[in-house]
Amino acid sequence: MATDILKFTQEQTATFLKEVSERSGQNLQACYQCRRCAAGCPVADDTGVTPDRLIRMIVMGDRDQASNNLLVWKCVSCYTCGTRCPNNIHTARINETLKQMAKEKSLQPLDVKIAAFHGAFMKSASHFGRINEMEFMGLYEIKASGEEMKRGGLSAVIAEMMAQAKLGIEMMKRKRMHFGFSRIKGMDEIKRLFNRAGKK
Ligand code: SF4
Ligand code: SF4
Repeated sequence: MATDILKFTQEQTATFLKEVSERSGQNLQACYQCRRCAAGCPVADDTGVTPDRLIRMIVMGDRDQASNNLLVWKCVSCYTCGTRCPNNIHTARINETLKQMAKEKSLQPLDVKIAAFHGAFMKSASHFGRINEMEFMGLYEIKASGEEMKRGGLSAVIAEMMAQAKLGIEMMKRKRMHFGFSRIKGMDEIKRLFNRAGKK
């Protein structure tokens, strides 16, 4: 009887591993599963996946699991895993790569709101080199409401907007919401970075 370990052909495994390794710039094959990364990941409990497990999925060629798990979308890029890794493997970069690959293939993410948040963040950063809350919240709301409409109809959209309005009011009370738009000085460099990432 075939076991899970034989589920993926050598060709499937090698192709996926090569693509993730090249695009993320990380040598995944150097991972010897010591789990030092897992011990410090702040989102591992919440996502049910630790960085070492994710790397194992990729090495085994399990494209579906690796592309569609919460660690990929909830990673906060704290780089704790990378600084602890004796082989200098940065899972945050692997997660970024998997997000991009999922987007290119139009895969539905496990948590659409996180995907909407990520998309709005990147777009806003590409415009100003930093996040301006008003623009960012507008971009996020358009995308998140669209997804809510598909899943739960108008009542879900209204609930989503009410929740965000409540959050906005709380942020204003704490002076965490800014209404102006500011741009960083090195915008040329930011544009070059986005262009280069886009070409890759
Ligand atoms: S710390 Fe590095 S070598 Fe150890 S399991 Fe994590 S990624 Fe692999
Ligand atoms: S960078 Fe991401 S995967 Fe690594 S420890 Fe932080 S949250 Fe976890």
